[in-house]
Amino acid sequence: MRSIRLSLVVYLLGLLVVALGLASLVVYRTTRSTLHDKQEVVAKLLETRFEHSQRVEETRLDDALLAQAKALARRTRVQIYPTRAMFRELHLLGALTAQATPNGLALLPLWLAQGVRGPVSYDLFRRNLADLTLPESDLMLPAEGLAGEYYQIDSNYWSRPLRSESLASATFPDMHDFAPEALLHWELDDYQLARDLKVRRVRLKVASARRVSIWPKMPPPPPRMPPVGPERPRNGPPPGPPWRRFEYPPLALFVQCAADTTRRDEAITRLRADRDEELARLRDETAATLAQQRNRLLALVAATFAAVVVGTFALVWRGLLPLRRLGDAVSRVSPRDFRLPFDERNLPAELRPIVERLGGTLQLLQRAFTREKQATADISHELRTPLAALLTTIELALRKPRPAEQYRSLLLDCRTSARQMNQIVERLLTLARLDAGIDRLRVQPVDVGALVEQCASVVRPLAEARGLHLAVETGAPSAAPVELSTDPDKLREVVTNLLHNAIQYNRADGRIDLTIARDNGQVAVEVRDSGIGIAPESRERIFERFYRADPSRNADGLHAGLGLAIVKEYVELMGGRIRVESEEGRGSIFRLELPATPGTRAAG
Ligand code: ADP
Repeated sequence: MRSIRLSLVVYLLGLLVVALGLASLVVYRTTRSTLHDKQEVVAKLLETRFEHSQRVEETRLDDALLAQAKALARRTRVQIYPTRAMFRELHLLGALTAQATPNGLALLPLWLAQGVRGPVSYDLFRRNLADLTLPESDLMLPAEGLAGEYYQIDSNYWSRPLRSESLASATFPDMHDFAPEALLHWELDDYQLARDLKVRRVRLKVASARRVSIWPKMPPPPPRMPPVGPERPRNGPPPGPPWRRFEYPPLALFVQCAADTTRRDEAITRLRADRDEELARLRDETAATLAQQRNRLLALVAATFAAVVVGTFALVWRGLLPLRRLGDAVSRVSPRDFRLPFDERNLPAELRPIVERLGGTLQLLQRAFTREKQATADISHELRTPLAALLTTIELALRKPRPAEQYRSLLLDCRTSARQMNQIVERLLTLARLDAGIDRLRVQPVDVGALVEQCASVVRPLAEARGLHLAVETGAPSAAPVELSTDPDKLREVVTNLLHNAIQYNRADGRIDLTIARDNGQVAVEVRDSGIGIAPESRERIFERFYRADPSRNADGLHAGLGLAIVKEYVELMGGRIRVESEEGRGSIFRLELPATPGTRAAG
């Protein structure tokens, strides 16, 4: 058995589950994407910060190396700048002070020669420079941050480079080809100093300005004089440059300064580790936040679901309250009281048609029930009269021996009573068959004009016996016969019944008009009488079973109030309908409308 409440609850909860599921999914996905976006932005920020810090670390080392290289170059330059050693005054001073030094006088010619011929002393100077050593403590800058540990100073004016002791057996390559055109130039690179020693290196070239000396050109070989000619110039120098230009390469210092990158790399590794740690923490935080949001969402969904379950049960219980009240009311309906004990004031609109229909059905049921009871009473009542007559007649016959003539008369009375009972029983059976739906139509083409003529001829003797005039009007003789497909026996029964009633409820010297007509594709049969008529309150009820407008008029036992009930059932079975118009004291018109074929309903 299905319960409305359970079904409603299940459907509602199903809908709720779907709605909540979809909403949660959307919220969860949105939150997740927002958190991931945020994580990405922060991760980019961390990466940028790391790259910046890494650059700062690298730049710090590079700047320190470059500063040290420049400082080295400055100091070395000050000490070896050759032009200082080329001042002639120095040579003069040497000559003048020669006597003050041991063997000085022996060197006097040399000093003098140098004073006159600079290059000689310069060459000597250069040769001496090859042995120049600068104390490392003097060249190394106080270690500041990531200062260089390894250095090497070359020059194109001496052959042996100045090297820091830390280089040991390692060496930096010769730099003489480094930036040949530049006076000041440096480059930074990573250099593999030893097999397992990679260093950061700066290569710096510091040069003095170019010196250009102009020396008289060696006299060219005497030109071959042309013999005599006007071509030979008379004045001016001979053609061709008379001077030769000497260009000294600039004095250049090549400083290579390098530092172990371990500390810098360690710092960068630390920075990278910090970044990775922060990234991991960020990921963990994002995952934790997401999990927290998910749990909150689940809790919210669970709470909503629980609240809605309770609410749904309460609402459905409340919403179905009128149905339960209606159910209670229906269960209180009994054969004794067919009224619905139900307060319709607070009735929901949805239940109103049901209650109205139920009320109507209960009324019908009550009427049927009453009719059933009434029918039993009516049948008993209708059968009692002829049965009593029959019994009385038989009692009378049996009271004493009688002549044959009397017996015959009494037997005829018995037959009359039995016929009455038989008629009632026959009609009841007819109605019972109609109720059970076993009375079928036997349809065939029927000439309605001929049929009504037959019916009229059957009842005419009775009508005439009552002094009534019966007129039949079936249309002009030349007109085509009125035909339809229907059950002729039932139609005959209907018309005969109506004619009998027209005779029965007529006045003396009255008349009866039986007419047929075609009407809008149907056949209309009209029985018009000039009788007593029917009171308005009885007009609707005359088709009910056992109903008689004035039972006292028909105490003969022949009219049990079943005729019109059968007529109505037959007409409806044939697909037609019957209407009555009547005026009390003036007569009645029974109008029967039949479709051309029983399948098509009569219009109107
Ligand atoms: P009954 O066998 O008693 O005539 P009917 O079912 O044929 O039963 O008719 C029911 C009642 O309808 C009659 O008792 C009568 O009061 C009323 N009635 C029927 N036909 C006519 C008529 N033509 N004129 C007046 N009253 C009629």
